[in-house]
Amino acid sequence: MSSVAVVTGSNKGIGLAIVRDLCKQFQGDVYLTSRDPGRGQEAVAKLREEGLHPLFHQLDIDDPQSIRALRDFLKEKYGGLNVLINNAGIAFKVADKTPFAVQAEVTLKTNFFGTRNVCTELLPLMKPYGKVVNVSSMVSISALGSCSQELQKKFRSDTITEDELVELMTKFVEDTKKSVHDKEGWPNTAYGVSKIGVTVLSRIQARMLNEKRKGDHILLNACCPGWVRTDMAGPKATKSPEEGADTPVYLALLPSNADGPHGQFVSDRTVRTW
Ligand code: NAP
Repeated sequence: MSSVAVVTGSNKGIGLAIVRDLCKQFQGDVYLTSRDPGRGQEAVAKLREEGLHPLFHQLDIDDPQSIRALRDFLKEKYGGLNVLINNAGIAFKVADKTPFAVQAEVTLKTNFFGTRNVCTELLPLMKPYGKVVNVSSMVSISALGSCSQELQKKFRSDTITEDELVELMTKFVEDTKKSVHDKEGWPNTAYGVSKIGVTVLSRIQARMLNEKRKGDHILLNACCPGWVRTDMAGPKATKSPEEGADTPVYLALLPSNADGPHGQFVSDRTVRTW
């Protein structure tokens, strides 16, 4: 059975650059996924013109049915999954006038809850020596620094559970609706809080792998691609999408004899302090 890699939100930006790299470096099938089949097939055609051979599967991380369809497909065709890169994400522009509570709900829905739902369905499929990369952001570190001491302590805890994290992320959205997020110790960035969620989720998932599947040598990390010229970050950003793909691809292709990094936050191929 072939090895298989899946990249979420990969019809453009950093995700597309990750797929391009994996097509060149990963020994196996590489799935470009997109919530919109038209945009996805267009991206596949673009890479085919470059002589590469990605495959396509639809995936909307906001849609549990779409996630389950991908899960069933991978189970049936490959008996599991070797590489999962959770790259799909959204960000409101700074100038966007959408009320903060709406931004909080929409941003958390995709970046945190959507990513978590993908993990819930696909992590059990990970094969021994598999790699999972959750694309977070340096903004998660700065946003953590702007949380109250009490929240910082919870997010840095080595014993926080996934349920407790979900409760905190849900509370953030509710607090913004009641306009009490400031008072409750949250920073003024929905994107930042969503990425705190992704980084902390990664730390929890790595711990769970240690506890439940130690012998399987699966490595799971969060990372920051850097500030990358995409539709999300705009043309002034310092890195090209190819440069942005470097750290996620490095983590996805760690050699089978590597015992780390695992459960870390990584940028520029370097483990950062959380
Ligand atoms: P981008 O160009 O806006 O691309 C985002 C991708 O995610 C698109 O393919 C988008 O699909 C997809 N997506 C959004 N919601 C989705 C959903 N519900 N289901 C499936 N796919 C979905 O952004 P990017 O800069 O490449 O960002 C990629 C990742 O890197 C994100 O997680 C982002 O937070 C992170 N990041 C970026 C930077 C940066 O400077 N660019 C810095 C730090 C972290 P559509 O085309 O359908 O919208």
